[in-house]
Amino acid sequence: MEFLEIKSKKKEIMAHLKEERTLVLIKPDGIQRSLVGEILGRYERAGLKLVGVKMLVPTVDHIEKHYTLDPNWRRVTGEKTIAGYQKRGLTPPSMDPLEITARILDGLKRYLSAGPVIAMVWQGAHAVQIIRKLTGSTEPLSSDVGTIRGDYVLDSYQMADIDRRAVRNLIHASGSVEEAQMEIPHWFDEKELIKYNIVQEKIFYDVNLDGILD
Ligand code: GDP
Ligand code: MG
Repeated sequence: MEFLEIKSKKKEIMAHLKEERTLVLIKPDGIQRSLVGEILGRYERAGLKLVGVKMLVPTVDHIEKHYTLDPNWRRVTGEKTIAGYQKRGLTPPSMDPLEITARILDGLKRYLSAGPVIAMVWQGAHAVQIIRKLTGSTEPLSSDVGTIRGDYVLDSYQMADIDRRAVRNLIHASGSVEEAQMEIPHWFDEKELIKYNIVQEKIFYDVNLDGILD
C-alpha cells in the first residue's frame, strides 16, 4: 500500500472513532434525586462532548419502541433474565423468554413515563464503551464502586421483582454502536444535534499538540 493511501485510511478510521455517538437517558429517578449535574459532570470530565440534550416526558409508546428497536431485544433480554434467575438458584416466574420480557417492558414503560427524563447524545472516541464503563452494570447491586450506578443506587433485580417494577438504575446508555445508531434518531432529529468543536479535543486528538507553544 502506498504511504499516502495508508495515511488517508488512518485518517478515515480516526475520524470515525472521534465521531462515535451514544444515547444517554437520565431516567425519572435521576432527576428526582437531583443527580443531573453529577451525571453530566462524570461524562464531561472523561472528555466526551455533549452534542444534543432535551428534557421530556416520554409516552409509553415511545418507550416501547425504544426498547424494541432491535427485533431480538425481547428474546435476548428474556433469555438473559431466565439465566440470571437460575444463576442465583431461583426459579424464574416463567420459562418463556417473551413472557419474561413482557413483564420487564411493562415495568420499564411505567418507570420511564413517570416523570421527565433527560435525553442526551454524547460524542467522542469510544463514546459507547466509555459511557457504559462510567455508568456501571445494569443491576446497581453488582455495579462496581466508582461507577454512577455503583455509587448512587442500592436497587436490585430481587427488590424490583418483588415489587413488580423495573430496576431503578438512573440511566439508560446505548449498549453498542449499532444500538446507538438506532436509538439516536428515535429521540433526536438530526438538526437537534450540533456540530461544534471544544478546545480540549485538541489535547485528545491532535497528534503533535501543535499550537501549545507561542
Ligand atoms: P442496560 O442496557 O444496561 O439498560 O440493560 P438491558 O438493555 O439488558 O436491559 C434493559 C432493562 O431491562 C434494564 O434497565 C432493566 O430494567 C431490565 N432488565 C434487564 N435484565 C433484567 C433482569 O435480569 N431482571 C430484571 N428484573 N430486569 C432486567
Ligand atoms: Mg440495553
